Amino acid sequence: MKLYSINTGYFKLDGGAMFGVVPKSMWNKINPADENNLCSWALRCLLIEDGNRLILVDNGNGDKQDAKFFSHYYLHGNDTLDKSLAKYGFHRDDITDVFLTHLHFDHCGGSIMRDGDKLVPAFKNATYWSNKEHWDWAVYPNEREKASFLKENILPIEESGKLEFVEVAGSIDGKLGETAFTENISIRFVSGHTESMMLPQIKYNNKTIVFMADLLPSVGHIPIPYVMAYDMFPLTTLNEKKSFLKEAAAGDYILFFEHDPVHECCNLQQTERGVRAKDFFKLEEI
Ligand SMILES: [Zn+2]
Repeated sequence: MKLYSINTGYFKLDGGAMFGVVPKSMWNKINPADENNLCSWALRCLLIEDGNRLILVDNGNGDKQDAKFFSHYYLHGNDTLDKSLAKYGFHRDDITDVFLTHLHFDHCGGSIMRDGDKLVPAFKNATYWSNKEHWDWAVYPNEREKASFLKENILPIEESGKLEFVEVAGSIDGKLGETAFTENISIRFVSGHTESMMLPQIKYNNKTIVFMADLLPSVGHIPIPYVMAYDMFPLTTLNEKKSFLKEAAAGDYILFFEHDPVHECCNLQQTERGVRAKDFFKLEEI
């Protein structure tokens, strides 16, 4: 098995929205905001070469929406999905599985592309993975989350006939639910950010690596009260973070960050203030 970090670029989001109830005087030290109060965030995906499968976890914003939509997000940087795949000798047609942690546009926007006036799968040889609970939640969105679930990113996946669902496992005694995906990959489930978000957990070089998606979008979100205002159920996130961080610190897990603008990975340590990052490194150093 091999793992590759696939950066698809950077975007900007309001720093206040990203850190919820935490005041700017505190978060601005770690993630400095620009003159519009926006901070820069990565759109970092993960490519897993597992036997004869090539699994892409999330795929960034894509490019289907109009200039007005993207003007709110200040896309920047030189990385694209295709360039990052090519760096490791891969092409999007090589992808066998597209694994979608959840269906917010910054995670699944690259799934579907325009072909003339049609919307077609951007990975033509891939099966697309979601789960029934999250899919229904996204297709019939609530008013607060609606702006993140764009129909053109989601519905054509089902229409293509390439959609498959992972079975959701609920948490037991506070421990996050877990479903096997391949021999070396299991899926953890959390529902504070959105209904049944999926976190791939991978056994690799005798380590456990977890793709954090939006449970911990960046290193700055490790302290318990640093929960995004975007989360549907912040108190659920709080409990999920506590449970996960305790398990991850005890098991010396490696956290892979999708949105951290600087750090790809870290491990954890217990401190008197709670669980905190220990060492920072790149995926290729594992
Ligand atoms: Zn996100």
